Amino acid sequence: MVVDPILLAGGGVLGLCLGSFLNVCILRLPHDMSLLTPPSTCPRCKHPIAWRDNIPVVSWLLLKGRCRHCREPISAQYPVIEVAVGVIWVAALMLYGVSMHALAGALFGTLLLGIAITDARHYLIPDEYTWGGLVLGLALSLAGGVEGFLHAVLGAGVGFALLFGVAQAGRWAFKEEAMGGGDIKMMAMVGSFVVWKGVLLTVFLGALLGSAIFVPLSLKKKRLVPFGVFLALGAGAAFVFGDAIIAWYLHFLGRD
Ligand SMILES: [Zn+2]
Repeated sequence: MVVDPILLAGGGVLGLCLGSFLNVCILRLPHDMSLLTPPSTCPRCKHPIAWRDNIPVVSWLLLKGRCRHCREPISAQYPVIEVAVGVIWVAALMLYGVSMHALAGALFGTLLLGIAITDARHYLIPDEYTWGGLVLGLALSLAGGVEGFLHAVLGAGVGFALLFGVAQAGRWAFKEEAMGGGDIKMMAMVGSFVVWKGVLLTVFLGALLGSAIFVPLSLKKKRLVPFGVFLALGAGAAFVFGDAIIAWYLHFLGRD
């Protein structure tokens, strides 16, 4: 899709700024801290971070990745996440043009990135991403960003029920918590964006990726599987390629 380069640049800058906000969410939400107060400080010298040292990517590069006051290294995760969200917003505009669907895709991608990183690090998915994202998904369905309000509600219900069922079955089969409540709430949110067919595709892709990549690793290391990471990858693929994958699958079935 051909989009005005100025609009693309604007979308990219908006993405970078949201990426900066996502960094704060990733840092604070797992610890139930407020997103607004206190203002950001250096973790070592506690010096407040001035606005000019808080410009996405640019400040990190100018400061060569160190605190202005104590020279403590600042994690490269900050600029990497800012760039990643910037890329998500530009990609959504390029794929869907200036539309509510592009806004839905960009917000969905940003939420999924936050979920994936938090789940990988802390084995939890904060409600702000899941319940907050569900409200966002339903609102966008009313505004025409995704398939329509009833589809979004149905998708959320299917996502919640399916993962709830899988969690119950897992508990019964393995006598332990195989899947957390965060995954169940996450799939309600995902369902509001990708509707019920996308939910099935997300769980299928998530299970495929999870068992191919992480289960062998986690069996060796005896660690939990942050299943939300793979659900997030599956959900992103379902949003972008869902219709094409489902059409291919139906075609494939029809030929047999
Ligand atoms: Zn410092």
